[in-house]
Amino acid sequence: MDKEKEMLKAIFETIEEGIYVIDQNYTIEYMNSQMVELFGEGTGKKCHRLLNDSDTLCPWCRAPEVFRGNRLHWELYVPKADKTFALTELPLKNPDGSMSKLCIFRDITERKQREAKLAASEERYQNLFEHVGVGVYISSKEGRFLDANQAFIQMMGYDSKEELLNIDITRDLYVRPSDRRKFQEMIERDGRVVEYEVEFKRKDGTPITVLLTSHVRYDHHGNVLGYEGITVDLTERYMMEKKLREARDFMNKIIHSSPSPIMAADLKGNIFIWNRAAEETLGYPASETIGKMHITKIYPEGLAYRIMKMIRSPEHGGVGLLRSHPMLYVRQDGKVIDGTLSAAMIYDDDGNEVATVGSFVDMTDRIEMERTLRSTQEQLLQSEKLAAMGRLTSQIAHELNNPLFGIMNTLELLKSEIPPENKRRKLLDMSLSETVRLAEMLRKMLSFSKPDQEEKSQVNINTIIDELLMLHDKQLRENSIKIKSELADNLPEIYASRNQLRQVFLNMISNARDAMPEGGTLSFKTRHQNDHVFIEISDTGQGIDQENINKIFDSFFTTKDTVKGVGLGLSVCYGFIRDHGGDIKVRSSAGEGTTFTIFLPVSETPAENRENELDKTAP
Ligand code: ADP
Repeated sequence: MDKEKEMLKAIFETIEEGIYVIDQNYTIEYMNSQMVELFGEGTGKKCHRLLNDSDTLCPWCRAPEVFRGNRLHWELYVPKADKTFALTELPLKNPDGSMSKLCIFRDITERKQREAKLAASEERYQNLFEHVGVGVYISSKEGRFLDANQAFIQMMGYDSKEELLNIDITRDLYVRPSDRRKFQEMIERDGRVVEYEVEFKRKDGTPITVLLTSHVRYDHHGNVLGYEGITVDLTERYMMEKKLREARDFMNKIIHSSPSPIMAADLKGNIFIWNRAAEETLGYPASETIGKMHITKIYPEGLAYRIMKMIRSPEHGGVGLLRSHPMLYVRQDGKVIDGTLSAAMIYDDDGNEVATVGSFVDMTDRIEMERTLRSTQEQLLQSEKLAAMGRLTSQIAHELNNPLFGIMNTLELLKSEIPPENKRRKLLDMSLSETVRLAEMLRKMLSFSKPDQEEKSQVNINTIIDELLMLHDKQLRENSIKIKSELADNLPEIYASRNQLRQVFLNMISNARDAMPEGGTLSFKTRHQNDHVFIEISDTGQGIDQENINKIFDSFFTTKDTVKGVGLGLSVCYGFIRDHGGDIKVRSSAGEGTTFTIFLPVSETPAENRENELDKTAP
């Protein structure tokens, strides 16, 4: 018997598991060396002292079950050893009828850890499969889904995985079933397909464009089982691109149909936006401007550089802005026009300058309008001034006229009483000639304020000029003035006041004489052009200073001393010519002479005019 026991013990020693035996009082009767190695020597001790360092039964103890005759096989984690064991517990009946328990401890800690790791990684993969943002699927070669994640189910519009697993891929998924065959050919040839763009249809039939990346699944013998892969829904991206394209087209339309000229250029000055209004205003067609022309070309030299400086400075509406600034532009035909420019710098997301955009306004019409308005206002003021002067002048002239004639008469009387050889007679003559001059001046003043209501008739300008030059020929020669006249043949007659025109030309002659004290040339030229008769009167005299050129037609403007000039001549001439529907222009440079150009319309008689007008309004 002992021999048997000894053999059994020897066998137990060869076993890798820990083995121990307890009696019904939980006292350890036997431990093999593996058990001693695990928990230390404990034969004779209570088993709970050995396994749990405790005087009471272990909380997990199932010995009573065993003593009742049950065999147990279970797993237990023992904190003291920090190990998990597979326990096998067997009841042993002693020859005396008492019970013992044999317990086998197999260390399964490492296996448990491996299992736990595997479970965790499987869970991670399952999580990834379910929650990844793209559709993931596994399909069979025959065309059934074996598995698919939630994203794919949703992408295809199915309510559940079961529903999806039931469909026929070739028929129900592909918009064009031939695409599935193409896909299979590619994947079976190369083992994989990368970013294959194809159209699928959702459960409700709506097509979506997807990007398919897939590889083959083989069985152990290398036969194709099916495919697994991912799908990305491109529909949204396409929609987004479409929306972006539409937004860009819309922006382009706004820019191109804007009535304000709009342009944009990169930092090198290459124009990339040039709308229709810009084409019209500056004349450069977009086809020759965008990508071809440099922005500096639309500005006078150096201005583009100054504009960039202004945009970058904080002084014109803030850094990066230029608010409605007066500007000059060079049109395609080379003409420089006035305008305004509003511009802004365009920055990228990192705040770097990338381009400038500008909108401009052509001010030519407005400036011209303002000029006309100003000149009309000036003319109005001038005529009001003239009217007031006229009234004053006529009053003064009237008041002076009578006493002056009284003085003249008295002087004439005195003259008759003093013999010509008398010394005082010369003084008297001088007084008399000055009084005559005064009377002449008064006459001029009166004719200015109350222009003679002259009869108008058909007159020939050439004839009037000829007569006047003949009359003044001698006097001009005495002043060393040469006369040149180039009068056009067949000059049409005009309807005018002969007297007033004489007065105008006379005034021009006398001004020319004053301007050429040392002599010179006085020329008269006439020509017929555009329904007007042009009369050019030039002298080679001292000319008119630039600062005075705009004033010479003003009443009372004179550069002559008080004896010679009153400054009414040209203003009276101007009034006469305007009355005739004509105009006077002057060109002069100081020291080189002066040219007055008078032009008068060639018109029919007033009677004919009236008839024509009646014709026009006739129903
Ligand atoms: P007045 O002869 O009395 O000065 P006008 O109205 O005829 O007045 O002329 C105004 C001014 O215009 C003159 O004082 C003179 O300065 C200038 N002017 C007119 N004609 C000529 C001319 N042919 N050459 C130079 N200056 C002239």
